[in-house]
Amino acid sequence: MAALLEFAKAPKFKVRAYLRAVEVVDTVADLAPLVEQGRLAELEGIGASLSRQIEELWNTGGSQFLERLRRELPEGASELIQVEGMTPRRLRALVDALGIRSVNELRAACADERVRTVPGFGQKTEQHLLAACDRWLHRGEEVPLPTLVSKALERAAVLEHELSSATERLQLVGDLRRGQETVRELEWVVLGSTSEVLQRLGSLRQVLRLEPELGRAHLSEALKLQLHSATAETWGNALVLATGNDAHLAALGKRAAERGVSLQGWGEPSDGTPARQFASEQALYAALGLPLIPPELRNGRDELVRAAQGELEQLVAEPDIQGFVHCHTSYSDGRNTIAEMAEAAHALGMKYLTITDHSPSAHYANGVSLDRLKQQWDEIAAVQESSPVRLLRGTESDILADGNLDYPDSILEGFDVVIASIHARHRMDRATMTARLTRAMSLPLFKIWGHGLGRILNHRDAIDCDVLAVLDALAGSRGAIELNSDPHRLDLPAEWIPAARERNIPFVVSVDAHSTRGLGVLRYGVLMARRGGLLRSEVLNTEPAARFAALVRPTQR
Ligand SMILES: [Zn+2]
Ligand SMILES: [Zn+2]
Repeated sequence: MAALLEFAKAPKFKVRAYLRAVEVVDTVADLAPLVEQGRLAELEGIGASLSRQIEELWNTGGSQFLERLRRELPEGASELIQVEGMTPRRLRALVDALGIRSVNELRAACADERVRTVPGFGQKTEQHLLAACDRWLHRGEEVPLPTLVSKALERAAVLEHELSSATERLQLVGDLRRGQETVRELEWVVLGSTSEVLQRLGSLRQVLRLEPELGRAHLSEALKLQLHSATAETWGNALVLATGNDAHLAALGKRAAERGVSLQGWGEPSDGTPARQFASEQALYAALGLPLIPPELRNGRDELVRAAQGELEQLVAEPDIQGFVHCHTSYSDGRNTIAEMAEAAHALGMKYLTITDHSPSAHYANGVSLDRLKQQWDEIAAVQESSPVRLLRGTESDILADGNLDYPDSILEGFDVVIASIHARHRMDRATMTARLTRAMSLPLFKIWGHGLGRILNHRDAIDCDVLAVLDALAGSRGAIELNSDPHRLDLPAEWIPAARERNIPFVVSVDAHSTRGLGVLRYGVLMARRGGLLRSEVLNTEPAARFAALVRPTQR
């Protein structure tokens, strides 16, 4: 009402009275007794007229006055006023200057860059309004967010248990087997008829397809189940078909054709060669002169070539990791002490642990100031006396807005390891962000680029920057890249791994743990390392403690 009154050029005092009423009503914990006893006018700033209107809204859910305001306004105004960032003053200006009468028209005006021609509107406002129009036009039709790999694997484990009582043999396939960051579907190949298996499952929300060869159902709003049927004879074909992406399957088909092999499931061979069935994936790949290709790499990039050269035997795997990199303690925003983290790392079979709490400018995370740093180093030394796990004194230093790190060089060189990450000002424009990161990555001491693009899956987009330029800077100054295993981050995203490999930049697979429980995320980081095709020799924390410590020491290079 206040917005519409303002738009209708009602006297200012009237608009202010409505705005004040909103504030006053907001402070009242329970309006019901006041309304029922007719005592609304006792509230400061609520007179007889406003109290009647609040009563009407309370009792009927509507207001005749509001309806009248809407009717009297130009067409579309009551719709336009709902667009985020649309103030009555802006609306008046746009209606007067451009004659806009609907959100669709406003959107078109923004897209045609006409809004910026109206006095008081700039390019930025125009862009914000354009995005706000899109949100308004698409309100209520959001697709549910995809499921994070961590949650999907948990759900899959439970379901697999249930499935195993409905079929003799099953294998997880699809996006999850390839270790994708988020999935919308859990898929298995099962022995026998999928409709029979599906009918024996208890936990389905809604069945979508029930056929002997293919079964689909909703597990929840966001997650579907898909079952593929196979026989023992076609088991290998079915697994390969349901795991690889289209590009991988096409590459296999091409290689098969070159070798005069016809694979069942890849379409009718033109020359009438009998299509071959394989009981295992190994047998199918072997028929094409290849070793078994790890599922995470079946993405149609260069995996066939690398597999044929025998390179993929060296693909990094979870047991290769010897130390936990990137751990927070109660010195900053972690939950556990140094001793507790060391003990947990030992229990998990690790040989070393880097203590990398936040740096001072990270106020929100209780960043470690210089005097507390001294205290922390003393504590690390004390814990080290009784811990078999080698403890490295590190920091996760903020990359400041200008690209500098948070501690002076003399302090930075005193650490055993330095991770450099962005924690604030994520929304710089591309050029400024690229300059900030290339500056940080060019600093001449060895550092690890922490959670590179700052994304939070399903929540915050990656920062905008020229990643290849940053990689060039990092390669020039000799640094490393973190693959952050936190399933909400999985950052630097795996799609950048090939470009980093080309530049000979080494990696760490880090846990970014804020508690002993947080150490359990390593597997997700290893999955992404494998998706990016990283070999053991390219991951620094596959090295023994002494070698790792020597490799990451932040001395000038
Ligand atoms: Zn961080
Ligand atoms: Zn961290």
